[in-house]
Amino acid sequence: MSEERAVNILHVLKENLAIPKWTVSRQRPFETLIATIISQNTADTNTQRAFENLSKHFEITPQKLANAEIGQLEECLHIAGLYKSKAKTIQTVSKITLEKFSGSLAPVLSLPLETARNTLLEIPGVGPKTADVVLLFSANHATIPVDTHVNRVSKRLGLAPADGDYEAVRLSLQRHFAPNDYLATHLLFIAHGRKYCKARQPLCMVCPIQSYCPSTSLGNKKC
Ligand code: SF4
Repeated sequence: MSEERAVNILHVLKENLAIPKWTVSRQRPFETLIATIISQNTADTNTQRAFENLSKHFEITPQKLANAEIGQLEECLHIAGLYKSKAKTIQTVSKITLEKFSGSLAPVLSLPLETARNTLLEIPGVGPKTADVVLLFSANHATIPVDTHVNRVSKRLGLAPADGDYEAVRLSLQRHFAPNDYLATHLLFIAHGRKYCKARQPLCMVCPIQSYCPSTSLGNKKC
């Protein structure tokens, strides 16, 4: 159930921030999965460049990536960091998608949310955030992926328990917002975290949602 303060916060963020653009087709679940694996612990620009490198050399399909030379995958992903483990994960998820799901994630995503989520989480290398990104972006399932920005912003705004783990933050946020705002919440909390509510030295004095935030004094402290 959405509440007035949460609704106001989202309204102000919509008025003040642009939703980040992303070139990968989020309609295709396998591409979303690969892009999300690449994006772990790296900036968007490096994710995009690595994804483009990969796309230049390989069709982004389970068949092509399962049979790719691991060294070539690593080379394509180099700019995104952690390239060896990302290449290995991409090859593993490609093989599992082929062998277990006949080469398509679409039937998995058509399952009820919790079943689809648990099925994705059984794939080695797919954690809750990656699963939730695929579920939300490629199937419009009602879930909010929690990355480092969403986690920090939610807790500072008092929309999630300060010591909450991934699930506690996700479920708390989902109680505060209406399901048709989950995508906007995810994207705008990331944009807000990058522009104003930075991990170190948040810009509270110029923050557009300062009047709704119980943590405004953070901006006066040396972090
Ligand atoms: S007032 Fe400060 S802590 Fe609160 S949301 Fe804005 S930047 Fe973050």
